[in-house]
Amino acid sequence: RELPGDPLTDVIPRQVFHACYSKVSSSVQVKNPQLVAWSESVAQILDLDSKEFERPDFTLIFSGASALAGGLSYAQCYGGHQFGRWAGQLGDGRAITVGEVVNSKSQRWELQLKGAGKTPYSRFADGLAVLRSSIREFLCSEAMYSLGIPTTRALSLVTTGEYVRRDMFYDGNPKDEPGAVVCRVAQSFLRFGSFQIHASRGEEDLEIVKTLADYTIKHHFPHIESINKSESLSFSTGQENDSAVDLTSNIYTAWAVEVAERTASLIASWQGVGFTHGVMNTDNMSVLGLTIDYGPFGFLDAFDPSFTPNTTDLPGRRYCFSNQPDVGLWNIAQFISTLSFADLINENEADYALERYATKFMDDYQAVMTKKLGLPKYSKELISKLLNNMAVDKVDYTNFFRLLSNVKADLTTPDEELLVPLKPVLLDIGQERKEAWTSWVKTYIEELSGSGVPDEDRKVLMNSVNPKYILRNYLCQSAIDMAEQGDFEEVRRLLKVIERPYDEQPGMEIYAHLPPAWANRPGVSMLSCSS
Ligand code: AMP
Ligand code: MG
Ligand code: MG
Repeated sequence: RELPGDPLTDVIPRQVFHACYSKVSSSVQVKNPQLVAWSESVAQILDLDSKEFERPDFTLIFSGASALAGGLSYAQCYGGHQFGRWAGQLGDGRAITVGEVVNSKSQRWELQLKGAGKTPYSRFADGLAVLRSSIREFLCSEAMYSLGIPTTRALSLVTTGEYVRRDMFYDGNPKDEPGAVVCRVAQSFLRFGSFQIHASRGEEDLEIVKTLADYTIKHHFPHIESINKSESLSFSTGQENDSAVDLTSNIYTAWAVEVAERTASLIASWQGVGFTHGVMNTDNMSVLGLTIDYGPFGFLDAFDPSFTPNTTDLPGRRYCFSNQPDVGLWNIAQFISTLSFADLINENEADYALERYATKFMDDYQAVMTKKLGLPKYSKELISKLLNNMAVDKVDYTNFFRLLSNVKADLTTPDEELLVPLKPVLLDIGQERKEAWTSWVKTYIEELSGSGVPDEDRKVLMNSVNPKYILRNYLCQSAIDMAEQGDFEEVRRLLKVIERPYDEQPGMEIYAHLPPAWANRPGVSMLSCSS
């Protein structure tokens, strides 16, 4: 029940009541659009032959200048909590879904152009995206996928040839920047906020929460839809006086639990690679448990639990690295309370889903860290001592774990040789800190030596979870600087490197070096939401 009007041109900013989306098509202006880069593996998912990328109309379609034949284009209505406060309607302000593709495996993939012009949800902004943020979203989507972390994908990155004005650039001065469009691909872009918005509008729209939940379960959680038919399984919440929660009697409970668990797993995997999202608002939380909406994100360089890549997040640091697990819980609580409010689950079931988040996070996080260290079993003390040491000496998060696999599980190693494998990341540390590290490595070797796993085998296993190449913010910046001068080679080279994060890649070692001093410059290590 979107408002009447010309569905293809009506982009007047407004509150869209009683509707999950508005029909709208791309209105982006282009002047000689160029294909900057594209992902071969996303093309494969869509059964797109590489020759398609050479067609002149490819760039026109994926810049939003031409419509995708057969596609029904629309923008989603959603709301969200921003920095802990209910922000009302947000919606796809510059992302337009241009259609869905059913591939040869019968999978349905949604194609969305980000930066394709205004929609009813654009509020005060222009609906456009600049090249720098589009490069970041394109590269990081593919980097996360290659790291094995659930994420929305990116098919292509196209410049529009037009300029976009940004007033909120980090130095406070307006700037005209090249415009660009990324084609994002996911099975669904539904967010926690897609459900929240309808519950927020009161009794009349609660039915929409249920309709959308039914749609989501049917299309994206089909194993849950058939749950009633299978054997009854009940779970105890583990609390005193609890009544057991039966996951088979209420599909919405089973669904809530799965969303909670997927979110928990996702955040555990972020912590493993040092990914800091930067804007974990509930409108940026996918119900499929995907990493979604790449804005001012950052991977940890030097380990700092309070690192936030988002200048808008200062001084509260709500979205800093170490807070992500708790924010995930807070966000899940908002999602669950939406389902409770719509009477889809009861209080007991809601509590159970929240508990599952906490348990799943701890299980996954412990498993991730145990693998990173190559330990035979989880050791809370060893890991917390390590993280504490890393924070004190500002040790590079990625390179440390990669080097750690070179430590030999040999109890006879002389003290003065214990730190040799870690030397490249233990820079400028005094005698006292050397002793702290030596003592840690000794305990580490003791834990390893009981496992009976040969050093070489452990190294292979550790290297399969500890990336050598990650998308450090400064690497993105180098690619952006060149692209803004019209040279896209570095974007393409970086894409190739981050597509194989766990491989050695001879000749590419420079991409695994510690960040240079300029990486700490404002606008490189930290960014604002404005893009
Ligand atoms: P984000 O912080 O990226 O999650 O964005 C929050 C909200 O602002 C979403 O509803 C976006 O669609 C909207 N938004 C961000 N940038 C723009 C833009 N340039 N034009 C229109 N809407 C935008
Ligand atoms: Mg967003
Ligand atoms: Mg964004």
